[in-house]
Amino acid sequence: MAKSKTARRSKRAREADAAVAVLAHRLAASAAPGGREHETAKEMIAALGTGAPSVPGVVKIADRSWQNYGKNVEQRVRTTYMISNGVTNDANVAIPAIQWAVRDVGTTPGGCVAAGMHWSFSRAGCNATATIDTTGTGKWLTFSGDQLADPTEVHALFHVQAGTRIEQLLAYVEGQGRALIAMGGNCGQTIAGAVSTGTHGGFLDRPGFPDAVRALWIVGEGGALHWIEPTTRPVASNSFAAALSAGGVTVHHDNSLFQHALGSLGAFGVIASLVIETVPAYRVKLSRAPTDFDSEIDAALFDHIYKGPAFGGGTPIDLQVVVNPFRMTRSGDKWNGPGAVTIAQLTEVPLATPIAVSDPGPTLNDGDIGTLLATFSHALPGAIPGLIDLLVPVLYGKRQATGPLSVAYPLSITHAPTLSMEIGVDSGAARQAFGILIDFMRSCSPPLPGVFSVRQTLRSRATLSIAHWPRTYTFELALLGGVGGTETTLASLLDRLVHEGIAFRLHLGMLVGALANGSPWLTRERMDAMYGAQVITDWHQARRTISPNRVFTNALLGAVGL
Ligand SMILES: Cc1cc2nc3c(=O)[nH]c(=O)nc-3n(C[C@H](O)[C@H](O)[C@H](O)COP(=O)(O)OP(=O)(O)OC[C@H]3O[C@@H](n4cnc5c(N)ncnc54)[C@H](O)[C@@H]3O)c2cc1C
Repeated sequence: MAKSKTARRSKRAREADAAVAVLAHRLAASAAPGGREHETAKEMIAALGTGAPSVPGVVKIADRSWQNYGKNVEQRVRTTYMISNGVTNDANVAIPAIQWAVRDVGTTPGGCVAAGMHWSFSRAGCNATATIDTTGTGKWLTFSGDQLADPTEVHALFHVQAGTRIEQLLAYVEGQGRALIAMGGNCGQTIAGAVSTGTHGGFLDRPGFPDAVRALWIVGEGGALHWIEPTTRPVASNSFAAALSAGGVTVHHDNSLFQHALGSLGAFGVIASLVIETVPAYRVKLSRAPTDFDSEIDAALFDHIYKGPAFGGGTPIDLQVVVNPFRMTRSGDKWNGPGAVTIAQLTEVPLATPIAVSDPGPTLNDGDIGTLLATFSHALPGAIPGLIDLLVPVLYGKRQATGPLSVAYPLSITHAPTLSMEIGVDSGAARQAFGILIDFMRSCSPPLPGVFSVRQTLRSRATLSIAHWPRTYTFELALLGGVGGTETTLASLLDRLVHEGIAFRLHLGMLVGALANGSPWLTRERMDAMYGAQVITDWHQARRTISPNRVFTNALLGAVGL
């Protein structure tokens, strides 16, 4: 009798837990294309009848289908652990839930990896054996002054759970009269996902997401807990560090471990929460408009953009130049193109400037044009320039917006599946890389229907970041999904860059090129060449500190020797 009561109670507890988790994941996934939230809800409810674990905050789903935003990666995942804060929405529930999931995976061959919103175009967030999904955790966990090494930072540091989406993080931060130091061009990712792939924007004098992180709370192998922060500007006060230690958390004050763990594609463990540094609120004006590409723009972009005003308006703090290669022509060693670029720039405006948005909105559905382009790209390559001309104003239309970062960069989802690869180079090689990209996209076969955008970012502390050079220029190829051969064509582009002697790094949350047999272009040898063999060895050494058996892994990490 007592046993059946317990069984009934645990079933009820599981049901309640799943209901909360469904809600949490629904909220998190509401931005996901293709109705993924409905599928998740159905699968989580179905998982109830399968003897799912009675640990609060975990729903375990067997044989789940996994697909990313770009729809170029599809995979059946043997076990998915959906983590949440349980019925009480208590962040203390999520940590034991993650620990339980990690222990449940144990040393199963194939291991596991954590997943965010599946916005990576690479296989970064996917493991066919087990995936630990933290998108159901999105709380802001406040500090008290005595918990901080520097109590004056109590309003500047935001401790948030891993699954907090950038959109949510902006709301937390801006709601307190603060601002993110910088951000990327969109806000649908989770903070753990964005940090783990080195997500960045085009801020001319500020690095990307990993560099705003001041501490990481990670669940490592065997469910062991690790608080990792650098020795420079530590977060935790002595008493807080002692309390963490007393609670079984290993506190690491270690610059090198911190830098290797940042942007590590989930290889060190499952991030439960992170501490993000913010700055006092500021307001920006975003202006996006098409223009001609000429020698003046060329000089501004490659020679002196960060030294003074350019493109009208004040000195930009953030800049993205979207290039339509099919409108460019070469004259000598320079490129020209009437109406070939769309420039989006952020300038800082006084804090009292009212929020205003003038956005004519799309006139055509990018999904319709995208489908046409994908269909015709192989059969009628001559139709590509005309169709790209139609698509660019839909995806990068004229826009003006004034307000905090959340107004400048609202959530923006495409209907057409898109795929991106991003290449980072030193500023000195940027003009040459720019020319190679235009030339390649105009002439490659099979064709690459799409555009590319040029941004700049400062060097990141994160070892595996694309932002390796003091001023790194990034070239993001934004391509249409559903076009056969795209990843192998991209591999030829990478070969050409190597051939031309251009040192570059890749954004590991985006495409990394594929060989004809489907294996990634990027290999351990190429990682060694890109990052330096000693750097990769040091990264491995640091990872062994908290993940000696490489439990946190997947096909991508394996293929590139991480
Ligand atoms: C529309 C769109 C716009 C984009 N814009 C930009 C941009 O402006 N700049 C830019 O740099 N990139 C951009 N990206 C790429 C994107 O920011 C990254 O791929 C990002 O990692 C995706 O975050 P996610 O939450 O979807 O994580 P996922 O793709 O699900 O996972 C990414 C990585 O994070 C790891 N991870 C996730 N959660 C955890 C956790 N709790 N613990 C440990 N590891 C974890 C995963 O294992 C994986 O390695 C864009 C992508 C899309 C689809």
